Amino acid sequence: MGARTGAQYLERLNAMTPTLYVDGEKVTARVAEHPAFRNNALSFAALYDLQHGKHAAELTYPSPTTGDPVGISFLVPRSEDDLHRRREGAAVWARYSNGFLGRTGDYMNAALTALSTAAEFFGRADPVFAERIAAYYEYARENDLLATHTLIPPQVNRAVSGSAQAGAQVAARVVEERPDGIVIRGARMLATVAPIADELLVFPSTLLRGTAEDAPFSYAFAIQNDAPGLKYYCRSPLYRGGSAFDEPLASRYDEMDALVVFDDVFVPNERVFLLGHPELCNAFYAETGASQLMTHQVVTRTLAKTEFYLGLAASIADAIGIGGFPHIQQDLAELISYVEIEKALLRAAEADGAANAEGVFLPKWDTLNAARNWYPQQVSPRLAEIIRKFSASGLMALPGEADFETDGRADLDLYLQSAALPARDRARLFKLALDASVSGFAGRESLYEYFFFGDPVRMAGALVSSYPLDAYRARVDELLNRSPHPRRS
Ligand SMILES: Cc1cc2nc3c(=O)[nH]c(=O)nc-3n(C[C@H](O)[C@H](O)[C@H](O)COP(=O)(O)OP(=O)(O)OC[C@H]3O[C@@H](n4cnc5c(N)ncnc54)[C@H](O)[C@@H]3O)c2cc1C
Repeated sequence: MGARTGAQYLERLNAMTPTLYVDGEKVTARVAEHPAFRNNALSFAALYDLQHGKHAAELTYPSPTTGDPVGISFLVPRSEDDLHRRREGAAVWARYSNGFLGRTGDYMNAALTALSTAAEFFGRADPVFAERIAAYYEYARENDLLATHTLIPPQVNRAVSGSAQAGAQVAARVVEERPDGIVIRGARMLATVAPIADELLVFPSTLLRGTAEDAPFSYAFAIQNDAPGLKYYCRSPLYRGGSAFDEPLASRYDEMDALVVFDDVFVPNERVFLLGHPELCNAFYAETGASQLMTHQVVTRTLAKTEFYLGLAASIADAIGIGGFPHIQQDLAELISYVEIEKALLRAAEADGAANAEGVFLPKWDTLNAARNWYPQQVSPRLAEIIRKFSASGLMALPGEADFETDGRADLDLYLQSAALPARDRARLFKLALDASVSGFAGRESLYEYFFFGDPVRMAGALVSSYPLDAYRARVDELLNRSPHPRRS
């Protein structure tokens, strides 16, 4: 099949029979038509259509096995130019959603692409694992599948390991090993876009201690989204059913999050990529190149999002005539700096990239690691904050689209006009500002950007422990030990 169209994506989604719970309802069929998931699925369908329109050249490349076009995020980078191609493809999708879709297929495809090349890594456990992940990657590439993933055990008691929580009865674990596969019981949180995905990747995350108790929690596998026994418990939708005028972001980009329950789910051997080997589970991302390719996609997306917030802030400033005030310019300068720094980080990571032992050309990790630590804590919170600061009570004196169709229209046209915009256009712009900074959708976005790539506190620890600090310490030592100039007499 190769690169899918939107219609092919929706058709497959509607044919699947997952088990989803949302707001008291159990959904098991025609997911793409359900109001809780439909609009998000339509946004994803639009992305798949871009693979066949004017962006086909950026978004696809010829399959190494069939020659048919397949998604560019499956391209194994062998050169800096390949990294550029991957970024340009990711940027097309990221700009389309202005970075509000965090789980476009290219995110997990980046991980699968790196993992498929890590033959030596998987071979340390058993070469059969390397063969299985490579075959699975090819299956995902040739069918252009959308994967969700889940890494974290439920939040019962973070003071103890997953295996020690609630008598080891909660976190997803291997409860049976059969000749033809494994059986998984328990839960994981959280899986974003689970309802509209084709596949679920269940990869290692929490650090395993390598003890006997941790053995049942040491695994990596993939399962189709409608596997028997697999259940998703969704949060309530953030899209409240309003028009695109009233909910411009939520009506398009509400990426559903779900708790994942494995009710004795059978995983056939060909989909088990690691079993046991906690030391390899702990190194799953760092030593395979998955961290690099995923973060390369993430920074491309967050750049598109930062650019969007810059445009939104500038539009609000124009609309209500605040662009000349020094503190407004200071905030715009801050946003411009974020955009330019993110661009530079991406280019630097590519330019300073290098081939690993498998001949895969990876972007420089120290640069990307700095970017993924910086954005959630320094940049993302400022985006919404600046929009709120610019807009002030304009975010609340804000009638909806329907109010412009009432006999109050003349009042609204007069009293809600702005320096640059007629009332209705100003209301539409400020509804966007509301959805980008204050609404339930905006709140979830802030939470997402802060946590989705891991706990920033522990990511900071990982940055410090992996960064080559000795060279900088040596500079301090060198100064302290340098022969002194004569003292002042
Ligand atoms: C909107 C959203 C979408 C997400 N989507 C996905 C997804 O699709 N797939 C997926 O796998 N994950 C997803 N995640 C989960 C994400 O990976 C986690 O939120 C993140 O790793 C933090 O884990 P946690 O939420 O369990 O927080 P916890 O680990 O429970 O942390 C809670 C608080 O306690 C602190 N804390 C806990 N343990 C420690 C410790 N050992 N040392 C120091 N501080 C600690 C944390 O700093 C934090 O302040 C998503 C998260 C969000 C918010």
